[in-house]
Amino acid sequence: MKHENNGKDVCAGGDARSEMLRALPSVDALAGELVERGWEKRVGRGVIVDAARKAVEAERARIVQNGAGGAGVCDVSRGGLADAAEAALDRAALRKLVRVINATGILLHTGLGRAPMADAAVRAVTEIAGRYAPVELDLVSGKRGRREQLVVESLRRLTGAESATVVNNNAAALMLCVAALADGREVIVSRGELVEIGGSFRLPSVIEAAGAVMREVGTTNRTRASDFADAINEKTGAILKVHASNYRIEGFTAEASIEELVEIGEQHDVPVLHDIGSGALTRRMGRAVPGEEPDAESSVRAGADLTFFSGDKLLGGPQCGIVVGKSQQVARVMKHPLMRALRVDKLRLGALAATLDVHMDHERAMREIPAMLMLAPVEDLRARAEALCAKLSEIQGVELAEVRASEAHVGGGSTPARVVESFAVALRLAGASESESQEQLRWQKPGVIARANEGMVLLDLRSVFADEEAEVVEAVRHAAAHFAGRRGGG
Ligand SMILES: *Cc1c(COP(=O)(O)O)cnc(C)c1O
Repeated sequence: MKHENNGKDVCAGGDARSEMLRALPSVDALAGELVERGWEKRVGRGVIVDAARKAVEAERARIVQNGAGGAGVCDVSRGGLADAAEAALDRAALRKLVRVINATGILLHTGLGRAPMADAAVRAVTEIAGRYAPVELDLVSGKRGRREQLVVESLRRLTGAESATVVNNNAAALMLCVAALADGREVIVSRGELVEIGGSFRLPSVIEAAGAVMREVGTTNRTRASDFADAINEKTGAILKVHASNYRIEGFTAEASIEELVEIGEQHDVPVLHDIGSGALTRRMGRAVPGEEPDAESSVRAGADLTFFSGDKLLGGPQCGIVVGKSQQVARVMKHPLMRALRVDKLRLGALAATLDVHMDHERAMREIPAMLMLAPVEDLRARAEALCAKLSEIQGVELAEVRASEAHVGGGSTPARVVESFAVALRLAGASESESQEQLRWQKPGVIARANEGMVLLDLRSVFADEEAEVVEAVRHAAAHFAGRRGGG
């Protein structure tokens, strides 16, 4: 972009300073320049004026601050300020929900939207998003139906449960199950399982929000089944077992199994709730993931009244909370007034139904659910990392690129303590720190989100889709060129 250079000067003190302040273009003039550069069609007048005002104010502050020392170059030309405002507008345009490439090696990255969905689920969403879908209409009978009905049959088949329902997320599932079964009563929970999941989900707060009273038993490291039995009284509403998904207590430990809790529950006629968190659907699937996650099928078989888990963790579906269990208890959950506030829409329902269809065939799930695909053999990743590294090494401005063994994580509050073997390309760009490199990669289209380690940027192949590798190369090329330009331009 060409612009007049007459305002460019070394910041100076005294008279020169006030002269420069006078030379600053007005907000209106600067906004006019941005309109000329075609920004009005992209962001609208209000945003342009704001950007112009910020650019003028920033430059004014710079002149005032640098004045006495005369340090730094001030550019009060209209073109120079417009360039600065334009760069800011470009940055602001990044604040959208656009696709990014996840090179962090954290598979179910909550900050990056957790599980990517299977193609079948994406197609289901695409088909109904812009049209109508029989969310509460039974096409067979022509009668009004319940929206969850669309997925209940699959959930029953997959987990062996009598009944099922779906809500907004697993936090909602927990709150609703506690509210429906133990409102105003005590919920007994082990002191070793008072978890906090990222994003301010704290078990004690959720139980309180649900209107129940938390009754802690046992100690941090040891809770026995008898602790639960001893705590039961006339105020008891439910027994709750929670999967300690993001931490582990090691050493001198004891916990009550779901089987033991079910037995106690049956003896005292108290319902047993099981929050299995990341939630593999079946025993087989639970075994397939590192560290062996608890699964819904086993919990149902053990006799838990209600078992609940997230839809967007290991299941690889849309964000939702899935509740499976005994008909009578599920019916109580569905009748609760909160159910209406926590229900899912047609998009999530459609995506979940399609995801469950994929899970009906274990081999197909292993092939098609991205979260499962990412548990691919580490040797495949080594080969991909080597090929990518070769391409990156050829880029001008890439100072160093090397293949490294790395540790990926399942993430998503599921199994952080447990790592998955992986391979990464470690990268250093000439003239850039690790954080500057991360930033430039993030700002590409699509952005590449990477970890940093000891001056290098790590691109972990475990969470990068194979068909995104060419885009990673392009992103690195652009980032490297940016720093080369900066070095050249001083
Ligand atoms: C992740 C998790 C939750 C929260 O689930 P969301 O779907 O994120 O609401 C609750 N409990 C456990 C044990 C979890 O792992």
